[in-house]
This record gives sequence, C-alpha cells and structure tokens, in this order.
Amino acid sequence: MEGIIIKGIAGFYYVKAGDAVYQCKGRGLFKKDGRKLAVGDVVQIQLNEGSDALITEIRERKNSFVRPPIVNVDCFAVVFSVTQPEPNFSIIDRFLVMAEKSNMDIILCANKVDLAKEAELHKLESIYGKIYPIVFLSGRTGQGIEELKTLLTGKKCALAGPSGVGKSTILNALEPRVSVETGEISEKTKRGKHTTRHVEIFDTAFGAMIFDTPGFTSFEVLEAEEEELAQLYPEMQEYLGQCRYDNCRHLKEPDCRIREAVAEGKISQSRYSSYVEQIKEIREKSKKW
Ligand code: GDP
Repeated sequence: MEGIIIKGIAGFYYVKAGDAVYQCKGRGLFKKDGRKLAVGDVVQIQLNEGSDALITEIRERKNSFVRPPIVNVDCFAVVFSVTQPEPNFSIIDRFLVMAEKSNMDIILCANKVDLAKEAELHKLESIYGKIYPIVFLSGRTGQGIEELKTLLTGKKCALAGPSGVGKSTILNALEPRVSVETGEISEKTKRGKHTTRHVEIFDTAFGAMIFDTPGFTSFEVLEAEEEELAQLYPEMQEYLGQCRYDNCRHLKEPDCRIREAVAEGKISQSRYSSYVEQIKEIREKSKKW
C-alpha cells in the first residue's frame, strides 16, 4: 500500500493511506544507506498481522529540508506582515530564492492588512505583484483567507516567514486544528509558539495538506551558487544573456542589461538590492572555504 508519512515520533512513523493512519516502523535498511524518513515522504507500507506495519520503500523526493525536516513541499506560502513588524524585504527575498531553488510554487501572503495604510499595500503590489501571486490577508478579520484556500487546494503546503508576522493565526484561520490521530479539535492556544511541537502534516477540509512546523522562520545559509542566483529571480529572466559579458554578475560591469532594467524601473530597486546583498554573501562564504 502507498501512503504519506504525516508524523514521526519516537521511532514510529504514522502513515496515512486512504482514510486510515497506520503506525509503522522504518526498515533498518534505510538507516544503513543513510536515508532518513521524513514527514511528507511517500512510502510503501506492508501490513503485518499482530505487529506494526513496516515501511518498505521511499519514493523519490521532489525536494527536502533539514530544518524543519520535511520533504515533498509543493507550495511555499511566504508570510510577512504589511506592518507591525514592517516587512523585511531582504528576508522575504531569501525565502523566495530558496523556494525557487527547491522547485516549489510560491504564494506571497501579506498579512495584517487590517492595520495597513493603502500606500503600504501599493508598495508591495508594485514590488511583487508582477512576479508572484500575492494575497492580502488578515488572519484577524479573515480577509483573504478564502482566496488563499483556493491557491493552496490540492497541494502540500508550508508556511514560512519570520516570527510575529501571523503564521499561526493564519493556520488557525485556514482550519481550526484537527488532530489526525484523535479527531479532537484542540484549542487555538495549543498552536502557540512556546509549546514544543513535533513536525507533522495535516489534511484540511478545503483539500490542501499543510505542514505544521515551528521552523521556517529564517535562513542562516543561502544555498544558491553565484552564477545561478539571477536565474532564481523570475523578473530577471528576460534580460539574461543580453549583457556585454557572458559571465556578468550584474554588479558594476559595463553594459549590463539588468542594471539598465533597474534604472528603467522594470526591475524593482528593492529586489535588485536583495540580489546584490546575496551575491556578496555567497562570495564571503566561498572566501571562508
Ligand atoms: P507567528 O509568530 O508568525 O506565528 O505569528 P502569530 O500568529 O503568533 O501572530 C503574532 C501577533 O500578531 C499575535 O499577537 C497575533 O494576534 C497578531 N496578528 C496575527 N495576524 C494578525 C492580523 O491579521 N491582524 C492583526 N491586527 N494582528 C494579527
């Protein structure tokens, strides 16, 4: 039978196959060849009468993360607040680069619109509106939640963003928590960020699966290589290959199409600044090595 690992606790994996959840043991085999099972893995299980079911195969992964330890993420919802705290564009763009690199659909969630001024929303729309779907949300009033549900439906989704921007509030607005094991609806406060939680993925009534994880709040390491970085900025694609130098990094080189596009307002200054900052960081890192 094929299923998906929805949770791992104390050496056991909980695999959802059809409508049932099976408590399974991972096969010793996976330990030997260095593979570690993770939440999100699609696996084959073998049922054994009178003992725990066994995981016998892992399907190839679409992507995988270490912190939090989840795999096969289809869609990344990058959450930030329009105000309180102000959006940190450098952090948002790091999440976006990572998501591009990991082959995921991306949705930007601009939260706390109930507190925002019109001008703040326009600014966000002008920077990101042409590049990614952006949903203006209020986890508090429920504005935008139905639109977000539509975008998440049918996918395995993770919410990412710095703490305090409203991820837990949005998760609760999307779906009051239903525990997969017990079917009990837990109180909202149980999702609070101070409680220790394990990673799991849960089903929603609107047809998405959502990774519930305390992680994805920041990135210490930018995994991209210098030469691929511009390719991870979708709005730069149409200009690549048009610079004077083939190996142009779009910093100070003459006849750079990307810098021209920034000067013409076709690429936003904010996004370009993030790009430059990331190139510098990648160079610093390679110097250390
Ligand atoms: P997380 O750290 O990203 O999970 O953020 P939380 O969901 O814990 O929210 C941080 C704070 O922002 C809490 O005090 C929430 O009540 C508040 N908050 C979250 N969403 C909204 C919103 O849409 N509007 C307003 N006004 N406050 C919000």
